[in-house]
Amino acid sequence: MPGTVHVIGAGLAGLSAAIRLILAGAKVVVHEAAGQAGGRCRSYHDPALDMEIDNGNHLLLSANQAALDFLRIVGAADKLVGPPHADFPFVDLKTGERWTLRIGDGRIPWWIFDGKRRVPGTTARDYLAFGRLLWPPRDAAVGEVIACKGTLYDRLVGPLLLAALNTAPPEGTAALAAAVLRLTVAAGGRACRPLIARDGLGPTFIAPALAWLASRGVNVGFGRRLRALEMAAGKIAALDFGDETLRLGTDDCVILAVPPVVATALLPGLDAPDEYRAIVNAHFRIAPPPGTPPIIGVIGGTVEWIFAFADRLSVTISGADRLVDTPREALTNTIWDEVAAVVRLGDANAPAPMPRWQIVRERRATFAALPAQERKRPGAATAYANLWLAGDWTATGLPATIEGAIQSGERAAALAAK
Ligand SMILES: Cc1cc2nc3c(=O)[nH]c(=O)nc-3n(C[C@H](O)[C@H](O)[C@H](O)COP(=O)(O)OP(=O)(O)OC[C@H]3O[C@@H](n4cnc5c(N)ncnc54)[C@H](O)[C@@H]3O)c2cc1C
Repeated sequence: MPGTVHVIGAGLAGLSAAIRLILAGAKVVVHEAAGQAGGRCRSYHDPALDMEIDNGNHLLLSANQAALDFLRIVGAADKLVGPPHADFPFVDLKTGERWTLRIGDGRIPWWIFDGKRRVPGTTARDYLAFGRLLWPPRDAAVGEVIACKGTLYDRLVGPLLLAALNTAPPEGTAALAAAVLRLTVAAGGRACRPLIARDGLGPTFIAPALAWLASRGVNVGFGRRLRALEMAAGKIAALDFGDETLRLGTDDCVILAVPPVVATALLPGLDAPDEYRAIVNAHFRIAPPPGTPPIIGVIGGTVEWIFAFADRLSVTISGADRLVDTPREALTNTIWDEVAAVVRLGDANAPAPMPRWQIVRERRATFAALPAQERKRPGAATAYANLWLAGDWTATGLPATIEGAIQSGERAAALAAK
């Protein structure tokens, strides 16, 4: 067992590491630069909407075992909600078609043989052609493994992979796409149920984790930005927080759970992903019409997914670098027109007036899931005997997701607690 483990960063990777260390009986201190925990997975009060919202809509699937375990440990498993089956309503804005993809619960994909459950305009044979993406060659891009065109691609495979990789699928890392598909669609509907933090990411993931840690004597130190690591004799000897330098004891160790751009600045010589992709979220303060499904896939528009919460409609657009410089009002008008059409607010003669809105553009939402970036993802171990890395950008085998972040924290904690 180590001395004190210093966890740097209270995003999900850092929180998951801290929780696992406490469970292993270690002594833990968490240092977070910001004034709140959660990193890229957080809630905040938005003044334009005058309500609490998330920095971005986050979708989990029932296959996300590490995320579900995290919530079970901190007593918040009931806060992630979703339909009992893997049913996904879709709307095609170009044709006006509406359908519900119904992935059966079992592992055998009977649904692809059923015209009422699969994507309209596709045949069972189309699905089998995408099977080769399940075990792709190392280092390949998706576009080198499957043909990124056709009805099934446009209406299902493309949107799913874009959401999972946050990168245009043709250039995306095939191995990451395969990992997601094997865990979810190929594992059957029980692994694909969509799960949403109904009350927000903060109340679901972050506040319960902080309370769990606090009740075990671990209070996160906020406003504690690590400025530099001092190294000596192949180990981290001190943590420099600017106003304070913390000398480490011989058995103390460090888990660095910060974004890659921070990790590479603190650790010269570290190779890490350095290309990012944006995510745009638009939020409208309006109660959705009764019966609006919690999540709707949108094809043929700017909007990709619509999330319906009790008091707002929220939109997600992934791989959205093309939109980060579009004027806010113009972008919001486009998005609102599409949202109103999908959830049927107003009609062609009397379009629904736009409610209070907000647009959140996260330029560095995730690292770009490109083969060249994948090669740069480091493992948890470093050149220093008492330093481990965690974060969604480390080599988790998954794209940048909550699941990957939590798994990375668990792995770093297991190594540190040895
Ligand atoms: C808009 C958006 C939508 C997303 N949608 C989904 C989704 O639908 N499903 C999904 O699974 N994932 C989604 N993700 C990805 C998910 O949010 C991330 O993978 C996850 O939150 C990353 O956690 P992390 O702990 O690795 O990193 P971060 O959350 O980046 O945490 C790093 C922490 O380190 C702190 N820090 C930085 N520098 C220092 C320093 N010098 N000293 C101390 N602390 C420091 C930061 O303040 C931060 O709290 C989305 C992300 C975004 C931005």
